[in-house]
Amino acid sequence: MHWLFGDQLGPHFLAPGDGGPGRDTPVVMIEARSVFRRRRFHRAKAHLVLSAMRHRAAELGDRVTYVRADTYRDGLDRAARGRPVTVHHPTSYAAVRLVRALPNVTVGPPRGFLVPMADFAAWADGHGGKRLRQEDFYHWVRRGHDMLMDGLQPAGGRWNLDHDNRQPPPRGHRVLPVERPYRPREDEIDDEVRRDLDRWEKDGDVSFVGRDGPRLFPATRTEARRALRRFVEHRLTTFGAYEDAMLAADPVMSHSLLSSSLNLGLLDPAECVESAEAAWRAGRAPLNSVEGFVRQIAGWREYVWQLYWYFGEDYRHSNELRHTAPLPDWWNDLDVTAVRANCLRTTLAQVRDTGWTHHIPRLMILGSHALQRGWDPAAVTDWFHRCFVDGYDWVMVPNVIGMSQYADAGRMTTKPYTSGGAYVNRMSDLCGPCVHRPGDRTGEHACPYTAGYWAFLDRHRGRLAGNQRVSQPLRQLDRLGDLAEVRRQERARGDTPP
Ligand code: FAD
Repeated sequence: MHWLFGDQLGPHFLAPGDGGPGRDTPVVMIEARSVFRRRRFHRAKAHLVLSAMRHRAAELGDRVTYVRADTYRDGLDRAARGRPVTVHHPTSYAAVRLVRALPNVTVGPPRGFLVPMADFAAWADGHGGKRLRQEDFYHWVRRGHDMLMDGLQPAGGRWNLDHDNRQPPPRGHRVLPVERPYRPREDEIDDEVRRDLDRWEKDGDVSFVGRDGPRLFPATRTEARRALRRFVEHRLTTFGAYEDAMLAADPVMSHSLLSSSLNLGLLDPAECVESAEAAWRAGRAPLNSVEGFVRQIAGWREYVWQLYWYFGEDYRHSNELRHTAPLPDWWNDLDVTAVRANCLRTTLAQVRDTGWTHHIPRLMILGSHALQRGWDPAAVTDWFHRCFVDGYDWVMVPNVIGMSQYADAGRMTTKPYTSGGAYVNRMSDLCGPCVHRPGDRTGEHACPYTAGYWAFLDRHRGRLAGNQRVSQPLRQLDRLGDLAEVRRQERARGDTPP
């Protein structure tokens, strides 16, 4: 039998060869209730994962034994009854430990990523202990996989078009003038999932956060292909320019919304890159947008996956800034009622309603707030993992511990990603209607991000002193005349919603 995990749902996980099953090998899928008991997930995420698994089982028909069990181990015992089982390398340390401990299970290499782990390890080791740089890795992947290349040169002559990207939102627009994204239609499998989740909650067996509105993300390969096609044909053009911008009334802007499909294994990263590159070669999308998108998939996504394994299992416990504060209840419950800061209220409400926001609200609103408040990075990681439709252990740990919380003291990024309100104001329309003023550090209208930024630098000035990339803000910190008041105000703020 071949075992498919719930994030191994595309056809490439059943293709023969390299640890894969034979053409007619029976398949087993296990829906383990214990997974939902362990964490308080967003309901839309639980819905999406179960819907995707059950849709895949329906497609596989008689070939699959679909087991609803308490644990994976129980489910496998029931389905395999001692027969040998193959499985592709799962996506978390915990799952790898489990499959390796089971008798009769043979673990094949992972699928759904571009670079074999051993090749990455050789590349990283080859850097002789120097800081690894995503940019170098990204060039190496593009060369190695001939992605967006003209011979040995990057297509268009430049590796990096960030200069043309990362613009503020276009003036005078509440929403980006671009076609809306693909949204799937629910069917009877979704109805059944919703009934099951209602029942589990009513029985007190599991509890969720967030709202489970109509399913917004693809649950099948066909839906995921449609989402990719719609993005590349109608929405990719403006991706690059506005990839870092935020608009209150347009959470999606020109983002692809493909992360959940990629992470469920419904799409393969290579096909996403190929479609975007083909659009550029056919003159249907500009290079800055295509390069920006390819960078996200072949650069960031792949890098994050590799670092998860390369840094090892203990990396998740990194806490170089010694942040230990617990997450407050209003945050855990996605309760925005008392939040006055417009950027945070808007973003947290997006998470509550959809289980998704794009990368800048994740990094510069949610993550930045957690970093400024000194919340325990492991708890922040767990929160992101539970609340986002695309959250899985491998992708959350480096993104939160490394990129967002700087808990690894710069192994992954060169500086902490946090800012005052000025950045949010420049990149969004969120500050205009806010009761706080981005320019105010203290007083009645003090922006919690601006005050929080200086208080963060002040607390960690010793640790950050040697970092060139923060030397200028540290010099500015020394010149602040109201630092004592900022400190007093931040102490008084405690955990109250900003
Ligand atoms: P787009 O902006 O359209 O980008 C295209 C694709 O690039 C995404 O679909 C995604 O697959 C990939 N990608 C881009 N950046 C990253 C990255 N840093 N890590 C992994 N993939 C990336 N992404 C997840 O898939 N799951 C997560 O749990 C997750 N957690 C995050 C937590 C924090 C604190 C931060 C800062 C980022 C996180 N990301 C995560 C990365 C990124 O925010 C999301 O992939 C992206 O917002 C998903 O929306 P999209 O599909 O429209 O992405």
